Amino acid sequence: MEEKKPIDFHQYRANVKKKRFENKKFFDNAQRKRPKNIDSHIQDLHEEVFENTNCLDCGNCCKTTPSMVNNRDVKRIAKYLGLTQGEFSEKYLAVDEDDDTVFRITPCVFLDKENNECTIYEVRPKACREYPHTDEHKVSLDIMRRNVGVCPAVYQITEKLKRVYIDELKKK
Ligand code: SF4
Ligand code: SF4
Repeated sequence: MEEKKPIDFHQYRANVKKKRFENKKFFDNAQRKRPKNIDSHIQDLHEEVFENTNCLDCGNCCKTTPSMVNNRDVKRIAKYLGLTQGEFSEKYLAVDEDDDTVFRITPCVFLDKENNECTIYEVRPKACREYPHTDEHKVSLDIMRRNVGVCPAVYQITEKLKRVYIDELKKK
């Protein structure tokens, strides 16, 4: 199997900055006009990009973005940790400005910073399992736009997606 290339974070951050206005324009147009096949294109690009992405080289989502935690997650993770749901919530959770329940601390306390592994991987929250949400049936372009600066894979998916759509979106 082909070896996955390590992520060049310096280059990634510089690229995110450089492409900020171009990406804003692209996502504004894509959200307004929502091309017909955009979800299937994104899902295909998700497969292609993640085939060559090693999340254990990165961990940027766990380091920078407090994950949402729903009631079922609380039940499952509390049980796994041998805590009551109340104890777990008190110790690890907070309510953010959008009224969502999220992990209180970033980087996530369950991230092993030595190797970027999740120490509660089997019972991690649904939002962590589904991150970065680019293989969903209907992809949220708003979430995708926000994740360009968090997830190097989403950055690459976006770059490839622009090549497919940028001319079409200009015409409409
Ligand atoms: S629970 Fe695991 S996957 Fe979710 S943010 Fe924390 S370390 Fe990352
Ligand atoms: S930010 Fe993206 S590439 Fe990095 S660990 Fe998270 S999902 Fe994987």
